[in-house]
Order: sequence, then structure tokens, then C-alpha cells
Amino acid sequence: MEWMKKTGINVVRIGEFAWSKLEPEEGRIDVSFLVDIIKRLHENGIETVLCTPTPTPPIWFSHGHPERMHVDQEGQVMSHGSRQHACTNNAYFREKAAQITEELAKKAGHLPGLIAWQLDNEFKCHIAECMCSTCKGLWHEWLEDRYGTIDRLNEEWGTHIWSEYYQSFEQVPQPAATPFLHHSSLQTMYRLFSTEKIAEFADEQAAIIRRHSDLPITHNSTLMFSVDNERLFQHLDFASFDTYAPQGKLESYVLNCDIWRNIKKNTPYWVMETSTSYAASLESYAHPHANGYLQAEAVAAYALGGQGFCYWLWRQQRTGSEQPHSAVISAWGEPSIGYENVLQVEEARKKIEPLMLATKPVQAHVAMTYSDKARMFHQTEPHNGIRYKDMMTDLYNVLLTEGLHRDVIFEGAELDGYKLLFTPLLPHVSEDYLSKAKAFVESGGIWIVGPMTGGRTGEHTIHTSCALGEVEKWTGVKTLFTFPMDEQTTTGEAFGETAPLGLWSAVFDADAAVGTIKSGVATGKAFLSETAIGKGKVVMLGSMPMGDDGNKLLKRMIRHYAEEAGVTVKTDASPGTIVAPRMGDDGKEVWIVVNMDGKGGTVTIPSKGSVTVEPHGYSIHQVTKEEVHS
Ligand SMILES: [Zn+2]
Repeated sequence: MEWMKKTGINVVRIGEFAWSKLEPEEGRIDVSFLVDIIKRLHENGIETVLCTPTPTPPIWFSHGHPERMHVDQEGQVMSHGSRQHACTNNAYFREKAAQITEELAKKAGHLPGLIAWQLDNEFKCHIAECMCSTCKGLWHEWLEDRYGTIDRLNEEWGTHIWSEYYQSFEQVPQPAATPFLHHSSLQTMYRLFSTEKIAEFADEQAAIIRRHSDLPITHNSTLMFSVDNERLFQHLDFASFDTYAPQGKLESYVLNCDIWRNIKKNTPYWVMETSTSYAASLESYAHPHANGYLQAEAVAAYALGGQGFCYWLWRQQRTGSEQPHSAVISAWGEPSIGYENVLQVEEARKKIEPLMLATKPVQAHVAMTYSDKARMFHQTEPHNGIRYKDMMTDLYNVLLTEGLHRDVIFEGAELDGYKLLFTPLLPHVSEDYLSKAKAFVESGGIWIVGPMTGGRTGEHTIHTSCALGEVEKWTGVKTLFTFPMDEQTTTGEAFGETAPLGLWSAVFDADAAVGTIKSGVATGKAFLSETAIGKGKVVMLGSMPMGDDGNKLLKRMIRHYAEEAGVTVKTDASPGTIVAPRMGDDGKEVWIVVNMDGKGGTVTIPSKGSVTVEPHGYSIHQVTKEEVHS
């Protein structure tokens, strides 16, 4: 605690793996050691986020009880050890998890110094869907709830294919090992079922805590895990995420800030875990951050709407499987390689805190929709290896490098305040989403749809009335064919740029062409089209422009439609430098400029002209609203 005070640490997060210490024998629960620590931390001016210890059930839970354990897709029953080894749907697990959570909430929920709760730790970080017999029974119940009758399921999924037809819900298998691929509907629905169940577990834990404590509740998630974050955070109070993005992938880091800011709009998010220097486990390690990068990360996190910036971990672990991971303090109690950077972050925090408290991020004009449900569709149907998160990050980077201030939003988010909406890689466009997008376009917005958006039903089957379902019917743009575009032989031209076209593509009638296919099997048809509807416009992007030339074409397209839509919250920051515009209640706008790539950068500040920012440095500039938006 002395070290923490010297270092500027004013909040700690504890308890997420401490179950065996809290309940050493089944039924003998004693949480006093955590209570004592929270009190001592408080006496030393340090606040606490307390976690429920449920990712690591003790040996008395696991030993001799294979039926309580997680079963993977190959049918392997997890052994005790590591973490997330239990099936979170197991009834006895739920009972024991509820008991320990209730006891913690009762004994610690009102302690001075406790400021928030974290449920569990990184749900579904190491595991995906469970194939145990408990899950099988719940799956059948879930299906019955969803479809009502087995006939309806058979109809919606089209199960006469390969004689998969079921006579009762009890016969529907889990997507475990088979000679070839499982049915698309079966796979995608099982993923949805699994993400719904883990969110229900989170809801259950939150409800128990709320009986004894009115502190805000969060979970430390990421975009990498087998969860539906939109659903998971539905009943939680604030968003937080963990990130170990390497410093070369600054767009991954900034994407996180832009998405978690929006999951609980108007409530600041936390970076709950990030390394001071490098991530590592027994098996691998990343390279250390360059000196100064941690400060750039912290200032960017705060400027883009964050409230907490926490390290994992405080002191290097002396045992276990993550001994090599970087920490603020080494296992032998001395400053580690990242320590000077942690001090630098604390200096920066003190400088920017008053401004952060007096201002909020400016409303973005550009939004991009991100969906864990879409990710599930792409997991079931990855074509030639689509990785949803990576591809979304690349597309997001087009907005970032165009200097557009942007929000990344989930499907359920409202579209108020936006002028340009970008919806790539969303195979199923739900009725709700489409009706919001329709209202957005009719009132003057521009909606860019695609690539790979709209081609699948909610049951993960193909439309039979037209290729892109309701989106196509509404726009009236005829999709002629869908097929895997060969980027080796296909090029397209739009806005004066020519690029290879690839990915699973939709090819449109040439009538409304903005982008035309110049070579390949669909020469002369359109890969990009636009339709004016109401006061706005729908832009259909049927194919993915590939490589460097493709990136140029995408940037031109985004620039073109951002200008047309009247997007004014933007800057000309050089690549590797970001700008976070914020505004106070007095209407004064402030730009926080951060160089993320360590090369330094420039940006034009209205009325000041071009300013430079030092490598990994930051600068703050007052700009008036009139100047920015003129
Ligand atoms: Zn299970």
C-alpha cells in the first residue's frame, strides 16, 4: 500500500480468483480477509472494486464431479485447474456461486472505500460453448421457448436437408463432433443460446449483489470472447474492458475506446486491465511497450470517454501460469520495467483530470455498427477464414485514418445525432435494426450497407424472395447474384479509384451503379450502388475492395459520403495520431491530440493552424464550436 501511494494508485480490483481462500471447505465461508483488506486500503486512501470469485471454483467443487465441468466441442471434459473449468449452467455451480456472492455482498457491500463490483472475470475467455448434459437439457428448453413446436423448428431450419428432421426437441443434438459440418442454423442458434445463458448468469449475480449493495456493477469483457456484449451489459451499470493490444495495433486500442464508450451511453467506461509493459504467460510473451506508449494509451482512454485506467497486475505473480506477465512491481517487491511509465501516466492524469471532469466527448456524426451476433454468423460460416473482429478493425481503421470522430455502436443503439451510418459484415439485418435505419435515412442520413450485409435470415438460412431480404425490397436495388469474388481476376472502379474486389459478394444491376466491375465474371455489373430515399440515401457496397488499392477506394468512398452527409466533426490528424474532441457545459470545445505510434504527428487546429505533437505525447487545444463546424 505504501508503494501504491507512492505510485499514484488510487483504486485496486481484487477477489476474482479467491474462492478457495473465501470458502476453503464446502459450506464454510469466511470473507473477512477481503473485508480487512478493503478497510486497510480505505485507510490508506485507496478505493476498491470487488469481484465475485466465480471463474475458479475450488477443488471440493470439482473433485469427483466430472458432471459439473465444462465439456468442449470434441467432448473433452475439463479437469480441475486453470480457470473457467466449471460449467456455468450447472445447477450446483449456480447454487454455490449465489452463496459466495451473497456473502460477499452482505459483508462487504457497504464498506467505505468500496466503489464498484465486477462480476466474475472475462467470461468465456478460454472456452466457447459447453457440450455437457446440463447444457443439453437447457438447450432443448431454449429451443422450445424459441420455436414453440418442433414442426416450426424443422420448417425454419429446413431440416429435411440430409435427413436431419427432428421428431421432438429432445432429439436436437448439440453441435459436437460430426464427420462433416453441422447445419448452419444449429450452430448459430447454439452460440446464441450459450451467450444468452452466460448473460443470465451475470444477471443472477447482479441481482444478488443488488439485494445488499447499491454500488455500480460491471464486468471486464473484450471483443474476443464467446459472449454477446450487447446482451451481457444490458442489465449492468457501466462498461469495462481488458486490452492487451500490441502497440503496433493502435486501431485495435482506439476501437475499444470507441465501442465501450457507447455500450452504456453517458456513463464513462473503464479500462479494467492493461499491461504496464507486456503481456505474457508460461507459453508466450509480447514485446515491451516503448517508453511513453502507456501514457499515450491512458490519455487516449480518458479523452475518449474513460474514467478508470487500471493495470494488470500490481505485483508480479510468484506462482501459477502467468508468472512472466509484466506488473507494476516485480515478484521481489521492486519497480519493474514499466514502472517509470506508470509514474508518467500518473503525472498526465493529474494534469488532465480537471478538464476531463469538466467536459464530455462530442457527439460523433459517424457511426459503425458492431455485432457479436454477426460474429457468431461468421464463426458458423467463415467462408475462407473470415475473422470478424479483425476485419471490422480494418474497416474501422478507414474511418479513423480519415480523421472522422466516430462511434462504434451495437445493433440496439439509437441513431440520433448521426449523419453517416456504416453497416458492414452484418449477415442478418433484424427488423428492429432495419426500421431504425429506415427512419435514419428518411430523415436525411446516409447508410452504407455492406459488404456481406443482409444475405442471411435470422435463422442463418438464405432468403428465397430476393438475395438481400428486406433491405433489398426496401431499396429496390436488384441483386443479380451472390458468389465468392476472385480478387485475382476481378477489379472494380468507383470515385476514380480502381481496386481488386474480393470476399463473398453481391452484384447489383448496373442501373444505380456508382461502382462498376471492370473485369472478372461479372464485368459491367455494379458492386456499389446508391438510392435516394426520403431526405437521405442508401449506399449498397456488395463487395470488398482488397489490398492497398482497395483501402484507397474505401477511403475515397467514406470521404465522399461523409462530405455529402454533412459530417463536420473531423480532423486532419496525421496517421498514428488521434484527436478526441470534447465539450464542456459552456459549449466550449477542446481537442485532445495524442500521438499513439511514437513517431510524432501533426494536426490542423482551427484558428491556430498546424500544430505538432511529440512522439507518444499529447496536447490540448481550445477551439470554438463555430470554428470547428464552419
Ligand atoms: Zn455445460
